[in-house]
Amino acid sequence: MALLQIAEPGQSQAPHQHRLAVGIDLGTTNSLVAAVRSGSADVLPDESGNRSLPSVVHYQSGEVPLVGHEAESNVSDALSTIRSAKRLMGKGASDIQDSWLNKHYQFDVDSGSLPAFVTADGPKSAIDVSAAILKTLKETAEQTLGGDLVGAVVTVPAYFDDAQRQATKDAAALAGLSVLRLLNEPTAAAVAYGLDNDSEGTIAIYDLGGGTFDISLLKMQQGIFEVLATAGDTSLGGDDIDNLIVDWLMKKADIDALSGESEQASIKEYAKSIKEALSTEESVTVDWSDAHGHAWKGELSLEEFNSMLEPLIARTLKPCRQVLRDANVDKESVTAVVMVGGSTRVPLVRNKVGEFFEQTVLTSINPDEVVAIGAAIQADVLAGNKPDSDLLLLDVTPLSLGLEIMGGMVEKVIPRNTTIPIARGQEFTTYKDGQTAMALHVVQGEREMVDDCRSLARFELKGIPERVAGAARIQVLFQVDADGLLTVSALERESGVVASVDVKPSYGLSDGEIERMLRESMDNAGEDMQRRVLQEQRVEASRVLEAIASALEADGDEHLSAEERELVDQQIQNVKVSMEGEDRAAIKTAVHDLEHASAEFVERRMNASVRKMMSGKEIDAIDSTLENP
Ligand code: ADP
Ligand code: MG
Repeated sequence: MALLQIAEPGQSQAPHQHRLAVGIDLGTTNSLVAAVRSGSADVLPDESGNRSLPSVVHYQSGEVPLVGHEAESNVSDALSTIRSAKRLMGKGASDIQDSWLNKHYQFDVDSGSLPAFVTADGPKSAIDVSAAILKTLKETAEQTLGGDLVGAVVTVPAYFDDAQRQATKDAAALAGLSVLRLLNEPTAAAVAYGLDNDSEGTIAIYDLGGGTFDISLLKMQQGIFEVLATAGDTSLGGDDIDNLIVDWLMKKADIDALSGESEQASIKEYAKSIKEALSTEESVTVDWSDAHGHAWKGELSLEEFNSMLEPLIARTLKPCRQVLRDANVDKESVTAVVMVGGSTRVPLVRNKVGEFFEQTVLTSINPDEVVAIGAAIQADVLAGNKPDSDLLLLDVTPLSLGLEIMGGMVEKVIPRNTTIPIARGQEFTTYKDGQTAMALHVVQGEREMVDDCRSLARFELKGIPERVAGAARIQVLFQVDADGLLTVSALERESGVVASVDVKPSYGLSDGEIERMLRESMDNAGEDMQRRVLQEQRVEASRVLEAIASALEADGDEHLSAEERELVDQQIQNVKVSMEGEDRAAIKTAVHDLEHASAEFVERRMNASVRKMMSGKEIDAIDSTLENP
């Protein structure tokens, strides 16, 4: 094809210069920062030695917010003490109703497009709250590591959609943190265990946190993780275990109802300490009393605790069954089960999950640190600290990305299964003489014709200098960043005019649809190819028609007699008729005949233009034309 592919500059990825990079687990309940130091990844404790930061922010009027442990104790102004803001990330006002958050906070949904928590320091969006947490972690890291960070890998749940991922990036930007990439939490956990070094496997990641439960099934193949399925329960976690103990204790101590926030908070805190102790002990001594004269002293055995827990754990096994079903994987094919989240320290959780998957679950890395550690390992690689490592976590483009070219055909620029990040360029040119604008249509899919592919975006490059067809050089660059965000830009070299568009190729595409698109492309491959060569022939024919038409218009009368003109016109008509048919050879013949019929005309025009030049004084120009025809 004459219209494209003049040069292919290949891949480019700017190397990083500095090396301090961290992994951040921005959790619903707790957040952590970790880094690779002297070759091994570890959590970075804060000044007081705390390895995790409660994801809590307390706002006071006109002051810098308190974050973490300092914020946690502020039950006096519970409305300004924001917990679980992660649940609101990327959500709209309509998502707040019947949410956990709505029961605990007041919202300002009118002040802007983002719903905001009403606090003593004014409305705060989930992005603001997350930014405060990230900023604290960034400071901890910079103090500990003794320098500025080049960036961070921030983890997000696998099910986070584009809006939730974008909100996470916005929060990082607000905190002055450069995001090297967002990484799925389950993938980070798998990386922490080095499972990406295995040649292949199917990995279940069971994540029971403070208030949420996620189960993900990953497929690993040659260093590439694919999320096969995710499921879970957004209102099930360690808090519910605490509540079981609270209920039990209230019964024992004869408490009918808890009065007030602070009483609730203190009994919950106590219950939590009992729960955590039971993760390592067989029995715990309970000694509770409150301001209203209720009291109870006794023991809670692990056995009794376990019997309370059974139904709760059973609730997590249902989503486990579901992911296996969704991914069409049987338990025997699961090669590893990773425990993630503070609540998987509870021994019965480990036992039951191990029983379910019929194997020993992986627990050697601290379950509440494993995500941050995996993110740190990935950050270290992305920061360029391991140039020889092939441990770069690779995601791939599930479908090809390309541009519409003349004739409604697709020119693939980035083929499917290309590992990302990637940048790939191609040069295109103008189709008509004097063309000053070019419409770019970005499409996705495997089929040859635009109509069979998915349209992603359209944009236009304007201000191309007027030239004859095929003379302008338009560099189109496709870049997919590590988060799968595609940027397509077009640059006309001579004038420097540029235009670009950003798209999320995965937006709104389910795995099922990707599969359907791939299947269709295979089913139609032969037919598509035939249609494509036919269409290419048509494009070539119209290019010739276009060129001859503009020549005839310019000086057809001058160089052609009436009979000659009639002959050319007849051949033009023949080409047009042939183009309506499906016979590629017939079009080719008609084009050939037209070129033959107009050969004389073309020659006369050339001679005339040479004469015109000779009559001027630009002898040098003529010489060089003759030397380099
Ligand atoms: P998230 O991912 O939601 O931010 P985490 O993974 O940090 O949450 O888990 C927090 C939960 O883990 C809390 O409910 C906490 O009580 C629980 N947890 C932490 N340590 C233990 C322990 N030793 N035994 C039982 N539960 C624990
Ligand atoms: Mg977590």
